Amino acid sequence: MKIIGHQKIIQFLQKSIDNHKLAHAYLFYGPEHIGKTIVAENFITRLLCLKGKSCGRCLGCKQALKHIHPDLNWISDSPIGIDSIRGVIKFVSLKPLVAPYRVVIIEQADTLTIQAANAFLKLLEEAPAKSIIILITKNLHYLPATLRSRCQILRFSLPPKEELVKFFKSQFNLKQEEIKKLLFLSLSRPGLAIKLIQDPEAMDKYQQVINKFINVLSVNNFEDKLNLTGFILDSASDNLNHLLMVIRMLILAKFDDRSIDGKFNQVFQNLAKKYDQEKLVEMAYQVLNTQFLLRYNVNQRLAIENLLINI
Ligand SMILES: [Zn+2]
Repeated sequence: MKIIGHQKIIQFLQKSIDNHKLAHAYLFYGPEHIGKTIVAENFITRLLCLKGKSCGRCLGCKQALKHIHPDLNWISDSPIGIDSIRGVIKFVSLKPLVAPYRVVIIEQADTLTIQAANAFLKLLEEAPAKSIIILITKNLHYLPATLRSRCQILRFSLPPKEELVKFFKSQFNLKQEEIKKLLFLSLSRPGLAIKLIQDPEAMDKYQQVINKFINVLSVNNFEDKLNLTGFILDSASDNLNHLLMVIRMLILAKFDDRSIDGKFNQVFQNLAKKYDQEKLVEMAYQVLNTQFLLRYNVNQRLAIENLLINI
């Protein structure tokens, strides 16, 4: 379990354990694929390890890492409904079976339904002793303020570039140029970069989707844009994420012309020139807003068409 970056957060959590000053609820937030889940796993192995030190070898650590520890409730549903939260409430009301704590991880906390969030808030207001809950989200503001205010909030940022370069050089034996391209394509998110480098099929698919968006944005034709609706609807969550990635790559290409080299770079440079900074930021905002709307019962086709008309 290699963690790239986030050392301050890990040290803070370790100190909280050492000083017996653990919060009842933590909220981990920051971009996707940068290591929030791995840090959460690392943290819970410190809490559930039979040797109390995240040894990685004892039964406690092994069960924690497989998310099957009897004192761990790992929720990865999306959206998270009221039944899951009722399950959590029951889970933390019971005494720990083998570990000192009952631990709950809620992976996509921003997808709590309103009902579920309300029930969860009540739980946080009267959190049972010996319970530790970790909420993970990519966007802090998708969670109600009342819920956020009950958590110890920890912000995750992108790991330092030098650390990423060192990691990909040593682990995957990549050349400087390959690393540059990989970091550009993954927007320096190690989880995504590792997936792309380990799975050539995923890399192909990812590049195809990116090229699709690049082509449509290059031509900037109203009809072509609307034709993307069906494609996005096929897998709205993934495809909107990819569109957002492309817009962020354009912002990056606009401000750092050394981020990548060669023909690949040229495509982004040329396209980035067509848009000013404000427009790109506004486009990113429109995608985020559409992602937010799609979480509720809106007409998906209409929401995506509105987005495509406006970007
Ligand atoms: Zn252990």
